[in-house]
Amino acid sequence: MIIINMFLNLIFPPTCEICGKVGTYLCDKCYFKIKKYEINYISKNKEIFCMYRYKDKIRELLIDYKFNDKSYLYNFFSELLIKNKKVCKILKSCDIIIPIPLHKKRKLDRGYNQSELILRDIAKKMDLQIENNVLKKVKNIKPQSEKGYAERMNDIKGVYIVENTQKIVGKKVLIFDDVYTTGSTTGECKKELLKVGASKVVIFTLTKD
Ligand SMILES: [Zn+2]
Repeated sequence: MIIINMFLNLIFPPTCEICGKVGTYLCDKCYFKIKKYEINYISKNKEIFCMYRYKDKIRELLIDYKFNDKSYLYNFFSELLIKNKKVCKILKSCDIIIPIPLHKKRKLDRGYNQSELILRDIAKKMDLQIENNVLKKVKNIKPQSEKGYAERMNDIKGVYIVENTQKIVGKKVLIFDDVYTTGSTTGECKKELLKVGASKVVIFTLTKD
């Protein structure tokens, strides 16, 4: 695998998604520019962390990544997070990291779970434990972004279940999503994980709308 990757890197070297500089998915110069979108939103109880504003270039790239078949953009987003020391600190402070799952039908349509690809890359590079068979989305509901708060809270009930609970009992778990809007999705996942014995659940998102 490593040899294949080295070979692919020779033919298709990584380039900065913003300026096109060869050798990296996000160059230092562009990372510095994108820093202006950093919000470091932390809830009062220090259990919700949102890193960037869902705006301009970040929003544009995230939409491309999720809806325009540009799955390779996970490289850019994982780079964006790993370059940030605060992010590394939060990630390392947890025992297990879990991407918010997609319903299997949605995953089949898109071909990938956007949060999972980013988190897998980060876990590999930072040597963190990622668990992908703990949280499961069992109901395929309409995109939450089209609804009001009350409707979201009602719709989200029973959408996620926890499997392989032994993996998370007594553990500090970090759940990862790409966009934080009302927090109904992450809040519901957190509730389910705590119910089966996680000691603490931290919500971490790439952006905040
Ligand atoms: Zn650049």
